[in-house]
Amino acid sequence: MKKLFYWDKDTINHFRFQSSFDCKDKVISDATSFVENCCDIEPGETEEMLIEDLTNQVYTQEEDEENLSNCCGADPSHLNESLCGDCLEHADFN
Ligand SMILES: [Zn+2]
Repeated sequence: MKKLFYWDKDTINHFRFQSSFDCKDKVISDATSFVENCCDIEPGETEEMLIEDLTNQVYTQEEDEENLSNCCGADPSHLNESLCGDCLEHADFN
């Protein structure tokens, strides 16, 4: 069974933000440095386990807090990630 580690919300958000403009290799590289410098490795754990788990959590969006439109909080449309379909239809882009 796969063990899940607890990560500080700020840590996850930091790497999620980075993943929006850096390639995955760079994010993993920085996550590796973070684990090596800032994490206590418990008996039975390896740095690789922590790095893999951190990376997984960074690239797995939690549905209850992500992907909401900025307009009314409904699911965003596929055309515009900040507006839902209804609001996009009535949006004034002039
Ligand atoms: Zn809306």
